[in-house]
Amino acid sequence: MLDGKIKVAIDYKRCNPNSCEKGICLVVAICPAKLWRQLGPYDYPYPVQGFCKECKKCVESCPLGAIRML
Ligand code: SF4
Repeated sequence: MLDGKIKVAIDYKRCNPNSCEKGICLVVAICPAKLWRQLGPYDYPYPVQGFCKECKKCVESCPLGAIRML
């Protein structure tokens, strides 16, 4: 359902931007709804409110398994 609430969660115990190429989180670019932000390379990504398509691309693209659907 597209109600604008955050539908995903990130586990910061797993997330490690240092392990991503040039510190760029893959999830930020792959989300078709542009619901992820990263202030700069090597910063932790975070989700924002918006219309999540529930496509799970973020979940599938994180190599460390840090993202899950709520
Ligand atoms: S499930 Fe899809 S639309 Fe929703 S935050 Fe993840 S990548 Fe974006």
